[in-house]
Amino acid sequence: MSDASPGKKRYSLTTQVMIGMGAGLVLGVILNMLQIEAINTHLVGGLFGMVGRMFVNALSMLVVPLVFFSLICGVAGIGDIRILGRVGGKAFGLYLLTTATAIAIAILIALVVGPGQGFQMEGVDTSGVTGKEAPSVWATFASIVPRNPVAAFAGGEMLQIIFYTIILGIAVLMLGDKSKSFVEGCEYMNELMMKVVQIVMAFAPIGVFCLITKTFTEQGIGLFLPVLAYVLVLVFALLLHLFGTLMLYLKVFSGLNPFIFMKKIRPAQVFAFSTASSNATIPVTLRCVTERMGATNSVASFSVPFGATINMDGTAIMQGVATVFLANVYGIDLGVGGYLTVIAMAVLASIGTAGVPGVGLVMLTMVLGQVGLPIEGIALILGVDRLMDMIRTAVNITGDAVVTTIVAKSEGQLDMAVYENPMAGVITDKLDIDPVAEGHLAEAARPH
Ligand code: ASP
Repeated sequence: MSDASPGKKRYSLTTQVMIGMGAGLVLGVILNMLQIEAINTHLVGGLFGMVGRMFVNALSMLVVPLVFFSLICGVAGIGDIRILGRVGGKAFGLYLLTTATAIAIAILIALVVGPGQGFQMEGVDTSGVTGKEAPSVWATFASIVPRNPVAAFAGGEMLQIIFYTIILGIAVLMLGDKSKSFVEGCEYMNELMMKVVQIVMAFAPIGVFCLITKTFTEQGIGLFLPVLAYVLVLVFALLLHLFGTLMLYLKVFSGLNPFIFMKKIRPAQVFAFSTASSNATIPVTLRCVTERMGATNSVASFSVPFGATINMDGTAIMQGVATVFLANVYGIDLGVGGYLTVIAMAVLASIGTAGVPGVGLVMLTMVLGQVGLPIEGIALILGVDRLMDMIRTAVNITGDAVVTTIVAKSEGQLDMAVYENPMAGVITDKLDIDPVAEGHLAEAARPH
């Protein structure tokens, strides 16, 4: 595949994915305007829906084995339980800090701009909106320890998987030399899973095209008009956090160049945007921070899946803006105490919830319930939430990558040569299958 015919320009995979995204956007907007029923049902809802779902499923199927094997290798690679505790503590602290800053800024901006003032509630269908009780902090922490690891793995319960795998990794370390072949096996499996990631990513341009076309065909521009003020404030706050706060943290805490970071994290952002799931994006985020930015697997294998579950800056921003918006709509003054409760609730709620599509809205019902705002208000922003989810998920995973990079740098676990090399980890050939290795394998597999 590397010997593409001369004169034929090859694009990097990221470029191809961006082209798929752009094409999907244009086609989706056109189809939404045309509203041809047969096309919308069979082509967009049917074929594109199927291919898009297959692609998200394929990404999701990699998550659990990848996290397991890379985390075992990570713990074994660190080699010292105290360092592990330090890395975990730093990551946890930074995740809380970024989320709390995110929501505080969001609330401030929303309070200044005041979206939702003078909004008319009539005509909004609020039936079918049900609230969810906030779990207690203690229950959240207790559930981190799985009663049944098999169920945790089968259900993709990320915090439980991380907990179990770390305990296993520590036991592996304690067994010393006896663990050598097990660790080697895990290293092989980790490499193997990374190869599978590459195979799945080869289909990304098509998968992303289908996902984006479907979303934009279904989401009309008209949905935005009634809540335009909410959307504009939210997008502004999300972009400010993405390009401002997070990059400032990166620069201040690690001294690294934010422009290089932004360029290298782009593939993960595109995947997060297309899938609206931090969890499904874990394989790509992991790849970006290790192979493109040079963080070691020891830090990344822990910090990235941990962040995908507990760190949701974009989601917290949405909750901040949405709370102010709904408080304005209902003419309720929450006061300083109310907003502080929102900040605490949003940070806590993000700890126990997985990064999957739409979960932010469920978390919002908990936050609203806590400060006494009517849960039905969610109906107002429901229509635009899918698109907002896509943007906030891209912000969420960027936060995960920023914290991972900062922790890796502070631990001396970041290869600066890789970070500064623009070509590091770029996939130019879709699948670099080595024909020689293939021949050897076929030979070895033949009965002798
Ligand atoms: N979709 C988001 C994520 O996966 C969570 C949310 O805000 O709904 O990170």
